[in-house]
Amino acid sequence: MRPLYLTNTLTRTKELFKPIHEGHVGMYVCGPTVYGDAHLGHARPGVTYDVLFRLLKELGYKVRYVRNITDVGHLEHDADEGEDKIAKKARLEELEPMEVVQYYTERYHEAMRLLGCQSPSIEPRASGHIIEQIETIKKILAAGYAYESNGSIYFDVQKYNRDHNYGILSGRTLEATLEGTRSLDGQSDKRAPYDFALWKKAEPEHIMRWPSPWGDGFPGWHLECSVMGEKYLGYEFDIHGGGMDLMFPHHECEIAQNVASRGTRGVHYWVHNNMITINGQKMGKSLGNFITLPQLFAGEHEKLTQAYTPMTVRFFILQAHYRSTLDFSNEALQAAEKGLSRLMAAWKELGPVISSEAEKSPSAEVQAIIDAVWDALCDDINTPIAIAHLFDAVKLINGGKLSAPDKAALKVLFDTVVGNVLGLQEEGAGASGKADKALEGVMGLVLEARKKAREEKNWAESDRIRDTLASFGITVKDTKEGATWTLE
Ligand code: ZN
Repeated sequence: MRPLYLTNTLTRTKELFKPIHEGHVGMYVCGPTVYGDAHLGHARPGVTYDVLFRLLKELGYKVRYVRNITDVGHLEHDADEGEDKIAKKARLEELEPMEVVQYYTERYHEAMRLLGCQSPSIEPRASGHIIEQIETIKKILAAGYAYESNGSIYFDVQKYNRDHNYGILSGRTLEATLEGTRSLDGQSDKRAPYDFALWKKAEPEHIMRWPSPWGDGFPGWHLECSVMGEKYLGYEFDIHGGGMDLMFPHHECEIAQNVASRGTRGVHYWVHNNMITINGQKMGKSLGNFITLPQLFAGEHEKLTQAYTPMTVRFFILQAHYRSTLDFSNEALQAAEKGLSRLMAAWKELGPVISSEAEKSPSAEVQAIIDAVWDALCDDINTPIAIAHLFDAVKLINGGKLSAPDKAALKVLFDTVVGNVLGLQEEGAGASGKADKALEGVMGLVLEARKKAREEKNWAESDRIRDTLASFGITVKDTKEGATWTLE
C-alpha cells in the first residue's frame, strides 16, 4: 500500500497515516444542518471528503464513512442560544420540523449526487440518537464534568480544563475563549460563559422535545457527533473531518465530551478543510453573495454571469488544496470550465485500454508523470499538484506521438485518478447516464423485434410496437438505414 500523509490539526504536523485496524479506516465527517438548500460552503467539504474516501478505497482500505445529518439542537446563536434552526424554518413555513428535515435532506443528497459525491456508508440523524445522547450525558455527569441548572445540563469547561486541556485542538486558551464570548446576562443558567449545553430544557413553546431524567428538552448540538461517532466507529477511530469553522467550538467540545464520557479523545487524525470566499469576501446572507448549489447550477443569482455545471464546480474545488482558502469568482469558474474540458477531451482521446499494451512498461517520461500524480495525492491530498501533473500528460496526449504502452498506461492513470479518485465524469453521467445506456440497450432489442415482425409482414405487430412506444413518448421513424427512435 502506498504511504499516505495527512496534516493532523491536533498535532499541527503532516503525519504518516496509520489506521487503528490494519486495512480498515473509520472516518466521520460533520454533515449539514438541514434547514435550507446546500450552498458553496457545503460543496467544499462534500467534495474534499469524497476525494479522501475515494482515495483511501483506491489505496486498498476498507472504509466506513459516517456523515451525520443535524436535524435538532443547532440553535441560531452557536449551540446554546436562540431558536432551533429547523424549528424556526418549520414555524415560518407552517410545517412539521421533520417535513423540513426530509425536504432539505433530499435536496442535499441531490446536490451531492450531481457533484459526483458518493454516499457515505452511514448517515445517522441526531434526532434518531436521543437515547444514546442522554446516556452519554449521564456518563459526563457521573464523571463530574457537567452540572444541572434549571432543567438544562451544561459542560463544566473550567473543571475539565483543570484536569485536561480544553483548547488542545484549536490552540485557544480559556482566557482567549472568554474574550470571544458574551458575558452572562443574569438570565443564563450557565456558571461560566464558555460552558456549553449538553441538554437544553424545552420552553413550553419549543416543539422539538424529548423526555429525559432532567425533564423535557433536547440535546446540545456538539453532543451528537461525539455520540454517533462512538456508536458507529467505536471509542477511538481514525479520521474526523469538517470545515475549519467547526474546529472551535464544535470539535473542541467534541474532544472534551469524548474524554469526559469515555476517557479518550476518540479521534486520531483531525482533518479540516478551509473556507470558500466570494470575490475575496466571506459568504453571508447579509452580503448578498450567498449562493446555493441549485442557483449555481442554474445560473440564477445576480452574482453569476452564467450557469456552472456540477462537474465544473467540483473541478474548481479540486484546483485548490483543501487547507487553502478558495476564492469563488465568475472568472475562476470559467477558467475551471475550460481546464476541465481540456482534461476530459484528452481522457477521451486515449480510447479504450488495450490490456496487452498496459502490461508493458511505459517510458520513463510517462512513468514520472504517473508517480508524480500519486505522490501528490498521497501528500496530504494535494489535488492541485496532481492536476498540474495530469496536464503534463494532456500535453503529451495532444502531441499525438504516444507509444501504445504509454497510451495504455496513461489511460489506466486517467481511469483511476481522474475517474475513481477525483470523481470527475462526463456531465450528466452517473445514475441518469446509466439509465440512458440501459434505455439504448432496451430500444435495440425492441426495434429488432419490430424489424422481425416487418420481415414476416406482420404489420399489426409492427404497428402495435410503434404505437406502444409512442404512448411512452418514443417516436420511431423508418429510414433507409433502418428504424431510428427519439425520446420527447
Ligand atoms: Zn459535528
